[in-house]
Amino acid sequence: MNTEPISADLLPDIRSLTGEQLEAYVHSQGLPLFRAAQIRHWLDGGARNFDQMTNLPLSLREQLKKSFRVFGVNIEKKLVSCVDDTVKYLYILPDNETVESVLMHYRHGWSQCLSTQVGCKMGCVFCATGLGGFVRNLTSSEMLAQIEAAQQDAGIRVSSVVLMGMGEPLENFENVLHFVTELAAPGGIQIGMRHISLSTCGLVDRMYQLMEHRLQLTLSVSLHAPNDELRSRLMPINRRWPLSELMKACDDYFAATGRRISYEYAMIDGVNDTPACASQLAGLLKHKNCHVNLIPVNRVAESGLNRSSVRRLRDFQEELSRQGINVTVRRTLGADIQASCGQLRRGSE
Ligand code: SAH
Ligand code: SF4
Repeated sequence: MNTEPISADLLPDIRSLTGEQLEAYVHSQGLPLFRAAQIRHWLDGGARNFDQMTNLPLSLREQLKKSFRVFGVNIEKKLVSCVDDTVKYLYILPDNETVESVLMHYRHGWSQCLSTQVGCKMGCVFCATGLGGFVRNLTSSEMLAQIEAAQQDAGIRVSSVVLMGMGEPLENFENVLHFVTELAAPGGIQIGMRHISLSTCGLVDRMYQLMEHRLQLTLSVSLHAPNDELRSRLMPINRRWPLSELMKACDDYFAATGRRISYEYAMIDGVNDTPACASQLAGLLKHKNCHVNLIPVNRVAESGLNRSSVRRLRDFQEELSRQGINVTVRRTLGADIQASCGQLRRGSE
């Protein structure tokens, strides 16, 4: 867990401490252990600062202010779709950075797309977040707070989460692991691992680290190209971890966890949507127990890339199906509110 200050003027996040760490802190202040339980109670109840913790002695509240911050998120901007129930939030963090999150309504309930970092280092050319560069990791409680804020604002219960907002979750490994464990823990928000999807651009070393935990979450891998030449152009990470190593890691991940991998493929007009790409992709995924999600790419002005035509999309899907690959086209939700992460934040700059 990352309890280090995340920038010079930001103290560690008290909500990210484990029970033992909080007790150790209280003990180090020469105070009885029940103070830790009181603090936890306030934090679980949604306290946003130490002054609200009225049953703590004033001296302890002052000491806490010098040692920690209560991390949370506030809604800076909110967009509600006119075409469906999708809601997009721009949240503001204690250091005035902003991240996005999207709430989507499906037949089975509400699903929320969460951010894991402010910005991203990976530089994928089609991605608004990647274009803005990297600022910092989110703490695990900043991830939890995105759900709490949306639930409270929309008056709903979130039943599944996808880590497909801003940032690369496996780059923020410790905090994301802490977050997904907390989510599933009794007494918390209680979203089970099978209702969590984690999307990665393909950090192979971290995928091996993740599989050691044998989590029952769904791993989504952003593929977007069926060969190294094209993938390296679209996603710089491919130069570090080429397709052969990525596909091997996916096979090993499936073998270790028994969880089917989901591949994301953003359909970009004239770039990765040709019949040749479809058969190459089918070859790459043949005989794998997996699922492919085709996503019409969201246009980001700076990238100059456009989404594939409906016809190209259908032909591509049919070719994969014909070759025995499980494939669906992702329904576009919130098309009128730029519901692809990174777009609202960039638009507000
Ligand atoms: N960093 C992780 C998760 C966040 S991005 C990853 O890359 O997987 C979530 C998903 O949105 C990824 O599949 C990503 O490739 C995709 N994405 C990014 N920009 C997009 C765009 N303009 N249109 C469609 N999908 C996009
Ligand atoms: Fe980062 Fe994912 Fe965007 Fe690539 S697609 S820049 S990994 S957020």
